[in-house]
Amino acid sequence: VQIVPGIHQIQVPIPDNPLGHLNSYLLEGKHGWTMIDTGWATTQAFDALSSGLGQFNVSLADISTIVITHAHPDHIGLVGRIMHVNPSIRLALHRWEFDFTQELFSNYVDLREKLIAIFRKHGVPDAELSAVRMIPGHSNEFSRDVVPAKFLYGGEIISDGVFDLEVIWTPGHSSGHICLYEPRNKLLFSGDHVLPEITPNIGYHSHSGDNPLGDYLCALGKLAHLTVERVLPAHEHDFANLNLRITELVDHHREREAEVGRVIGSKTLNAWEIGSRLTWNLAATGWDQYPPFQKRFAVMETIAHLEHMHWQGQVDRILNDGHVLYRVRR
Ligand SMILES: [Zn+2]
Repeated sequence: VQIVPGIHQIQVPIPDNPLGHLNSYLLEGKHGWTMIDTGWATTQAFDALSSGLGQFNVSLADISTIVITHAHPDHIGLVGRIMHVNPSIRLALHRWEFDFTQELFSNYVDLREKLIAIFRKHGVPDAELSAVRMIPGHSNEFSRDVVPAKFLYGGEIISDGVFDLEVIWTPGHSSGHICLYEPRNKLLFSGDHVLPEITPNIGYHSHSGDNPLGDYLCALGKLAHLTVERVLPAHEHDFANLNLRITELVDHHREREAEVGRVIGSKTLNAWEIGSRLTWNLAATGWDQYPPFQKRFAVMETIAHLEHMHWQGQVDRILNDGHVLYRVRR
């Protein structure tokens, strides 16, 4: 799909995933094309990306730069395979996202232990922890030989001679997540930070920082004063009214905090107990029926809310023999 002359979108399928597809974006430059995000590391996704490029007479040999919004496997997964075909591609991503991929290779066991320790601290029963994995193995196709040409921190301008992309650091969904603003056409490539219908998952974990939800809300504020005519997200569909969507996302988190407060009531509870009493938009009928990984995601999201509420002075965090409990501040 052509977005504006010189900027195209390719939908790359994500097999067996409710998100359905990743939107990869291609920008024509003076000396080659820039690709934003790639797709999950499957042959089906690789073929879809290649044939999408073919439809506007571009091949992987014509790609000069790849920019990754964040290192989740649906965004970074195909980088290794693409750069194997064209090793001269310059890869750019946030330093923290790259460091995380390196830790996944070299320190997988430690990372898993860190995550399990967080779950234990927050009341997750041992029986729920046996199947903990960090990220499905497919993401490791981001080969360890791939070395980024440029580390991003936010504030850089990536220019291919035609379009300028301003890098905006937007932590929350992932600690090194970036959005890219293209001022000439007033386009915002929003990655997973702002999606039109889904609320991005914001979870507390070993690499999230202490208050990922606070980071996320703060990063939404960074976008609010940009002049944006079209938002180009990494999933779902493009949309026009960025500020309306930001308001909806902020309201959603406020409502969620109110619900957390009601669930705690006058009790002192851990995140597992609180999470199990919140309403979740999942197919199964009750907490006990949820698959273990969904319960863990729900707990990480619950901790993110509780920690944000703690930082805001709405709840007290009580440490009790290595366990964390929360109570509404009166
Ligand atoms: Zn994604």
